[in-house]
Amino acid sequence: MEQMTKKETIALRDKHIGKSCQLFFRQDPLKIMRAKAQYMYDEKGDAYLDCINNVAHVGHCHPAVVEAGCRQMSILNTNNRFLHDNIVLCAQRIINTMPDKLSVCYFVNSGSEANDLALRLAQIHTGNRQVITLEHAYHGHLTSLIDISHYKFNLPGGPPQKDYVHVASCPDTYRGKYRDSDYAKEELSKLYSDEILTICQNVSSEKGEKICAFIAESLLSCGGQIIPPDNYMKNVYDHVRQNGGVCIADEVQVGFGRLGKHWWGFQMHDVIPDIVTMGKPMGNGHPIAAVVTTEEIAESFRRTGVEYFNTYGGNPVSCAIANAVFDTIEKENLREHALVVGEYLFDSCQILAKKHACIGDVRGVGLFLGIEMVKDRDLRTPDKATASYVLKRMREEHILVSADGPECNVIKIKPPMVFTKENVDEVVSTLDRVLKELRDSQQKSSNVKSTEVPSKEPRTRKSLKEDRIKSI
Ligand code: PMP
Repeated sequence: MEQMTKKETIALRDKHIGKSCQLFFRQDPLKIMRAKAQYMYDEKGDAYLDCINNVAHVGHCHPAVVEAGCRQMSILNTNNRFLHDNIVLCAQRIINTMPDKLSVCYFVNSGSEANDLALRLAQIHTGNRQVITLEHAYHGHLTSLIDISHYKFNLPGGPPQKDYVHVASCPDTYRGKYRDSDYAKEELSKLYSDEILTICQNVSSEKGEKICAFIAESLLSCGGQIIPPDNYMKNVYDHVRQNGGVCIADEVQVGFGRLGKHWWGFQMHDVIPDIVTMGKPMGNGHPIAAVVTTEEIAESFRRTGVEYFNTYGGNPVSCAIANAVFDTIEKENLREHALVVGEYLFDSCQILAKKHACIGDVRGVGLFLGIEMVKDRDLRTPDKATASYVLKRMREEHILVSADGPECNVIKIKPPMVFTKENVDEVVSTLDRVLKELRDSQQKSSNVKSTEVPSKEPRTRKSLKEDRIKSI
């Protein structure tokens, strides 16, 4: 039930909520009153298909998750200084999805807290300070993380880059520094990972220091749904470890089975991180997150003698909810579902790319997909205007998608995992219509004769698809 009109909500928000907290669709924000599975409903009861929400992982307000949280809340909620079964069972469930050497958990309340603790563990364990991060990466809103998030500190008003932070190129083989149009596949991973080696060498020669940590998402979401090339992570992990550092995999967006075959994105690259952080999907909307690490790193932390206490981290309610999320992923076979529906989404978008010259690239694994809008397929020039138009028009059609990447030209699709093939059909046919209408209006204004099929092929060639199938 609405407690005030939408206009009043906006006015009260303008008055009391910090202006830096920005809304989706700022010009005409949505007032969402309730949500179920992959749908959200506004104050008029109108439904929107949610392709944005990777937090409502097993579907908005999943009854099993709601029930688990309510039940535990009515029995007990307290900090984790008392023994409780929920926290140890939750830790066990996480560990069961990980390689053997990752066996120790710390519970926190958000992805940012998880990454902050990961950095602290890395500093304590290695005794080093120098951090390597990737261009366009985002790892959280705490001061320690803004400092290593190029996505934020690189903004005109952002803080200056800290002297212990080193930024390597985003391993974007489509529009990054080294492209698949110029180099063979094997060369790409070497070229990008060699940058990390160079950073390690420079840190040693210029500062006389070793590396503390390399931190990266296993697939780069803020960078524009980027899938690093084969062997990139393997090479990087080798360089970092040989130079004294540990490797942190940020799985806050891509973890928990979204990619289908694997629970975690790092498994796709056949590497074992020293520290893994997770959040968003873990509580299906409830704030719970975690850090997983090795016994050796946990032991270094213990040896400092400084107790780790986090008032809400790992409380019985949060853990009951996370356990219900795990149960639901397993009971409803959501990883397999993500694989099948993700494959269908990818194929459908590839077909769409053949019709629309503004789609330069389609990339994705499971239910994590990016559609890169370009002005020119040869030059791969980013087309932010088309991406913004798509977002606005799709919203009018009651489909919520977002855009990201350094030029904000990559349409992101990362829906709740209960997304269906019918949902895919709806998204793709609507996108087809929206892009056609845009092309028609552009052609009308420039008086150019309409051509349905673009002359150049998008990057979505067969080999790319084969690579992808192999990797998932
Ligand atoms: N890491 C990544 C990759 C993220 O996308 C985010 C949030 N967008 C965070 C960390 C921070 O998580 P939170 O907002 O839960 O603090």
